[in-house]
Amino acid sequence: MDNRVIKNLVILGGGTAGWMTAALMVKVLGKGIGITLVESDKIGTVGVGEATIPPIINFNQALGLNEKEFLKATKGTIKLGIQFENWFQQGDSYMHAFGNIGKNFPFCDFHHFWVKSRQSGGTSSFWEYSLNYQAAMHNRFAPLAQIKGTNLPGISYAYHFDAGLYAQYLRQYSESKGVKRIEGTVDQVNVNPESGFVESLQLDDGIEVHGDLFVDCTGMAALLIQKTLGAGFEDWSHWLQCDRAQAVPSAAVKPVVPYTRSIAHAAGWQWRIPLQHRTGNGIVYSSRHWNDEQARDVLMANLDGEALAEPKLISFRTGRRREAWKKNVVAIGLSSGFLEPLESTSIHLIQSAATRLIKSFPHRGIKHTEVAEFNRQTQVEFERIRDFIILHYKANKRSDSNFWRECATMRVPDSLQEKIELFRSTGKVFRDFDDLFTEVAWQQVMIGQGIMPEDYHTIADSLSETQMADLLESLKTLVDGTVKSLPDHEQFFS
Ligand SMILES: Cc1cc2nc3c(=O)[nH]c(=O)nc-3n(C[C@H](O)[C@H](O)[C@H](O)COP(=O)(O)OP(=O)(O)OC[C@H]3O[C@@H](n4cnc5c(N)ncnc54)[C@H](O)[C@@H]3O)c2cc1C
Repeated sequence: MDNRVIKNLVILGGGTAGWMTAALMVKVLGKGIGITLVESDKIGTVGVGEATIPPIINFNQALGLNEKEFLKATKGTIKLGIQFENWFQQGDSYMHAFGNIGKNFPFCDFHHFWVKSRQSGGTSSFWEYSLNYQAAMHNRFAPLAQIKGTNLPGISYAYHFDAGLYAQYLRQYSESKGVKRIEGTVDQVNVNPESGFVESLQLDDGIEVHGDLFVDCTGMAALLIQKTLGAGFEDWSHWLQCDRAQAVPSAAVKPVVPYTRSIAHAAGWQWRIPLQHRTGNGIVYSSRHWNDEQARDVLMANLDGEALAEPKLISFRTGRRREAWKKNVVAIGLSSGFLEPLESTSIHLIQSAATRLIKSFPHRGIKHTEVAEFNRQTQVEFERIRDFIILHYKANKRSDSNFWRECATMRVPDSLQEKIELFRSTGKVFRDFDDLFTEVAWQQVMIGQGIMPEDYHTIADSLSETQMADLLESLKTLVDGTVKSLPDHEQFFS
């Protein structure tokens, strides 16, 4: 396709995507290539995105960041899961807690034992056996690789942080390692008429920035990948109908809880993300069902502290870029597509795309096969996450609004429908290759949203009634005892 040696990498955009990409690239490939990042203060960043999922810990570790310093710099807190309120039906709540639940047996996950106990008249909640859930409810946290005296996994966690501060922190990191930053707005993109490759970016102050490979981190503008190269967009808004958000910070409240709250309303849902210095709030909604004023009123009436600014309106379209890599441009961040912020997956998709680009780095020229493989992996990753998010909307029993009724009756992708049917009839759920979400994540959302298995694995019958009662009791005692031994969550960052 092109045999040009890649010596100069240009990242266009200095939001979370731009600086995460720059930081990882300079850390891993910095000695071999020159990295320039262009960002426009005039345009600014989307300015949201504060909740993450556990793989962010690997990202920070790969950069060699010190966790305490990172939390201080970004005013970060710990996240043990997401509490979904009013999703299945009003007044109901469950958590997608990170980490394990109970104790998996060879060939048979723990939930089969729990389902059997429920069918035999047991009343315990699935989450009584989740260390993450119980720690979250008691505001406790400490890093814990394993539950003491057992081989059971300990706590799995992620962070809430101020995205603007995180980008600044990574900027300092990247510049100190040699990334060159240029402030300016791209007025024109120069493309080679024969190859169709981007050659340079023309900035408003006359500077021209040349590169061999360009990373488009321009957010929803998608200046290089779409406006210049027309890579196309697969629209998923018929499944994920929300297309607008309003975000507003509010004064911090005590205690600072170690989980995100996602509260469903008549035509969308609201997030609450507790940081050290403030709470991040926002409402995500369908503009077909609510106008901006209605959404704003619901958001402002449901803050738990004083609003610190006017709400900021953001429009979006859910879907994915058809080709995340086209010619010599790779889209990372919102330019590559957007799924709902419901499961905090966007920052993870940045991490994963930057990692994928490093693994496929075309140092001796860009090959068709490499581009095709990159795009295939990106597509699979987006589709798996898409299905998981649609599940939250589809599996609802709310009848209070057209929005929820339409979600409940919509036709969903076959891949998701098959998963739901298999779980409902057998209790079985399998993690697809490359699925970000584990079996226990799928179990929690399905059970939490009313999809109770009608059957369980036959291995669960290998325990007598007494053995089953002992198993459940001992796991509960273990979880409760471990939670009691943990310090208050806030001690970790104060
Ligand atoms: C409502 C909402 C809530 C979200 N919540 C979460 C969450 O909780 N967790 C999560 O993981 N993700 C979340 N996200 C996603 C998250 O915000 C983004 O993934 C993340 O901020 C990355 O954005 P970005 O860097 O791609 O784009 P942006 O932040 O928009 O950055 C774009 C950059 O490109 C530059 N630029 C654009 N055009 C030009 C030009 N012509 N010349 C020069 N520079 C230019 C801009 O100046 C800016 O620096 C949320 C998104 C939305 C919309």
